[in-house]
Amino acid sequence: MAESIHEDLEPLPRGGFRCRLCHVTVANKPSLDDHLRGKKHQRLESLRSVRQDQELRSVFVSGFRKGTPASELNDYFQSYGEVINVVMDKDKGVYAIVELQDTEMLEKVLAQTQHSLGGQKLRVKPREKKDFKYTPPRRQGSAKREQLSPDKLAQELCQANDVDAQMSLLVQLFEFSESERRLRDLLFSLFQEVFLEFFPESAILPFGSSVNGFDVSGCDLDLFLDLEKTKTFQASAKTPTETPAEDGASPELDARSEDSILSDIDLASATVPEVLELVATVLRKCVPGVHHVQVVANARRPVVKFCHKESSLRGDISIDNKLALRNTRFLQLCTEADERVRPLVYTVRHWAKQQALAGNPFGGGPLLNNYALTLLVLFFLQTRSPPVLPTVARLKELSEGEEQTVVDGWDCSFPKDSARLEPSSNTENLCALLAEFFHVFGDCDFAGQVISLREGQLLPTSSVLTSETGIRLKLGPFNLQDPFELSHNVAANVNEKTALRFRRCCQVAAKYCRSLQYQRKSSKGKIWGLVRLFQPGTAEAEVLAATGFVLNFPLPLPAQSRELLGQAEDFHQQQFQKACAGIAFVLQDVLKCSCLEAREEQQAVTECKQGEEQTEGRAEQPSAGGKRPLDEEEAGSSSPSCKRPRTETVSPEGQSMTWNCAVWHKVWLGRRRVRRQLRGPQPDPQHSAGSLELEAKVSAAISQQEGEARPEEPLLQFALRARVGASASSERETPLSLRFDPDPPQAAAFQEFFHFLQGFLPRAVEQRLASEA
Ligand code: ATP
Ligand code: MG
Repeated sequence: MAESIHEDLEPLPRGGFRCRLCHVTVANKPSLDDHLRGKKHQRLESLRSVRQDQELRSVFVSGFRKGTPASELNDYFQSYGEVINVVMDKDKGVYAIVELQDTEMLEKVLAQTQHSLGGQKLRVKPREKKDFKYTPPRRQGSAKREQLSPDKLAQELCQANDVDAQMSLLVQLFEFSESERRLRDLLFSLFQEVFLEFFPESAILPFGSSVNGFDVSGCDLDLFLDLEKTKTFQASAKTPTETPAEDGASPELDARSEDSILSDIDLASATVPEVLELVATVLRKCVPGVHHVQVVANARRPVVKFCHKESSLRGDISIDNKLALRNTRFLQLCTEADERVRPLVYTVRHWAKQQALAGNPFGGGPLLNNYALTLLVLFFLQTRSPPVLPTVARLKELSEGEEQTVVDGWDCSFPKDSARLEPSSNTENLCALLAEFFHVFGDCDFAGQVISLREGQLLPTSSVLTSETGIRLKLGPFNLQDPFELSHNVAANVNEKTALRFRRCCQVAAKYCRSLQYQRKSSKGKIWGLVRLFQPGTAEAEVLAATGFVLNFPLPLPAQSRELLGQAEDFHQQQFQKACAGIAFVLQDVLKCSCLEAREEQQAVTECKQGEEQTEGRAEQPSAGGKRPLDEEEAGSSSPSCKRPRTETVSPEGQSMTWNCAVWHKVWLGRRRVRRQLRGPQPDPQHSAGSLELEAKVSAAISQQEGEARPEEPLLQFALRARVGASASSERETPLSLRFDPDPPQAAAFQEFFHFLQGFLPRAVEQRLASEA
């Protein structure tokens, strides 16, 4: 008893204790004594001894036909003595635990070399000895916290008092709830139980966000199945033993190896995909509640994916990823080293997710994954002055005197305990650190340097490649060196576009962080602080608004013009004029938008302010779809003198043209469905897919569906400037460049329309020109 009490207890700093059996923490020795005498502890102790006793008298049986009732197994084992209980695996019915009356009966059963039932050979083996683990009962309902809606999140964050409080609150809102943690523990014990039965002496270990300190409700469950000891076990069981009785080889070991699923495979020589297939089979057949099991053998780290039905948790099991176990511990250590690490990482992760810069739950793709993003934050904290976190090289120094850890040839040594780290003298608050994070990475040349957490420095790419150590890091648009596996670029999947977007989004965020809206709580109930950073796509929209929503496309010259290409410039100009007429036609007649040439406005302005000079600046910076041009459009319609045929209204240089436009209905949504309805089952050739006539009808139908022909306010307003682009890839094309300037507050909403125009407008304009030709 004294011994078991001792094993259950873990002394804590400052005189406290944790009872591992009951998951209870107490502050001091008298409270501990109370707990040990208390009902809960006593009950769990007796439950444990009952379970251990049951375990010693039970056998694990498999090999019977699927669907065999418990009663048949009961009857079969009755011939050896009394059967106390038969527990079938309730989901798949492929194995059973049979509890026998006593250990004598168990020995009789195990001494029998062959068992069969209904013509099937049974595999019968003793139960694996497992530590008793108490899992508190789960409350009714899902363990997953209700999804936090973006509105609710914004509301909660706005109530905090300052940005630091917002960041800490974010952690509380996102991290696992107590019930989710319990659910994971439960699932984890289930895996442990089943795998131990099928892979004797194996260990299953969690890694990744379930345990690294950056848990987010609903994140995947990453598991590592360590089969090293199973391999040794299998090898020793296979070695022919000359004198089995005398040499101490346990009969249990023999029975286990012979009857195990392992008899089908030699773990030492099997390939990773073969072992994963076996793991997948065990998952499919023997783990209750698991489905969608799939081997992903061609990933950098091959895994078996699965989903847990009841909780919808997704998970991965890998068998060859010890480095991930180690980097998981490293991330944990960083969270323990400084309490600013978690809020900062949670904030950056959520920002990056909202801006579509990071994510990829299914792997692959050009975005940063959460591990890479976390390393970026850790690197930033290493480079503060004074540093918030030590470099990995410094951590290695601090680990001297402890056992050094080398995994797959890489030095992964760092102190076991965060108490060995020197506390940071950096006093920056979270609000300032976040702003600086964006500032630093908004200025970073990701392609030209390597981010090294080992050194806590940006290294020139050449120094990594030519290093004497022979490390060959795969360089790309984003170079982030793994802190341990030094030849691994953690961001090797990131493409140039994402790297560029990441930097630009950081610049936009850094700019926002300089505003009062970021730094101070709004007294008028407006959004402030983190909330605006988290609006989806805002950073991208602002980047686009700053650099302009630009659409470039070449316009092929019609065939009949090509013979005159000697005077190509004139033809480009003519073609540009036609293109402008085409653009106005598509916007007005096909997409039912309002589209007023800014020239007319300029003319009106000029007429009003007689003698005042027209400035180029007006054309360079058209009003961003302000209301005035639209009012004037109405005025324009009653003043025919303002109207001129469109092809004549190109700017004098013939090189640029500006319109003020308004969109009244969401004509970019649901077009395919409306198109299908309009075309009917047997399309009329006149209404061929994509014909402008049909497209115009589609826009009209969508506008009608939405109600009012012309709502009071347009949905979107923007200025559009067309010009001949910088260079044509061939003389046979006119390079068109269209720049859209939406009203700044509408930038995010405009983005959707812009994405639609990117696909629609070039085709439609080309079609219009072709039909006119
Ligand atoms: P989440 O699952 O919430 O996205 P995570 O940290 O669990 O976050 P995963 O992509 O599931 O991320 O990866 C699990 C773990 O595997 C990581 O925490 C890290 O330890 C390791 N890992 C992931 N990607 C890499 C990588 N590119 N290089 C090295 N280790 C990695
Ligand atoms: Mg994960």
